[in-house]
Amino acid sequence: MDQGQTLKILNARMILECPCALRDTALQAVVGEGSATADIMFIGEAPGKNEDEQGIPFVGAAGKLLAEMLRTIGLKREDIYITNIVKYRPPDNRDPLPEEINACMPWLHAEIRIIKPKVIVTLGRHAMEHFIPGQKISKVHGEVFEKKIPDIGTQRVFILYHPAAALYRGSLRATLIKDFKKIPKLFEKIKTST
Ligand code: URA
Repeated sequence: MDQGQTLKILNARMILECPCALRDTALQAVVGEGSATADIMFIGEAPGKNEDEQGIPFVGAAGKLLAEMLRTIGLKREDIYITNIVKYRPPDNRDPLPEEINACMPWLHAEIRIIKPKVIVTLGRHAMEHFIPGQKISKVHGEVFEKKIPDIGTQRVFILYHPAAALYRGSLRATLIKDFKKIPKLFEKIKTST
């Protein structure tokens, strides 16, 4: 079975079996999307209203900004894999609770194990906190970390602000775009070191 098929089966199981309590209020699960063999995996926080309605991650305003930034570095959504730490929309887009993050986490880790990305790009502080706990995003955005993750191994994690944060706090937009533009260089460095 190839990675694409394995991922399809995983996501189908997630829809049926994820124990997250947000299932009760969300319209549907939002599974990851993109290439099952992607070198770069983007991880956001949780689906919003548009994502909940369409069942696809990052299709609203934040997704448009993400697609724009991908274009500036010569990538399309199909070239990457994009998912969230929480697979269901929290009511009124509130922050996900620790127990909701914990309930969805095994699926995220399984996605990482199947795809084996060369770099994970976290979008926002919730995704950052899972991989690099106890850091302030205002300090570590635009930086890359090497993290040993149980069941996964050593993983490179690049920290970005969330595109939605850049949309409602205009001052972050330039910072996010500047950090985003570091991705190609980082990627070249990774390719030559592996
Ligand atoms: N914000 C996220 O973190 N994820 C989405 O899928 C959409 C908006």
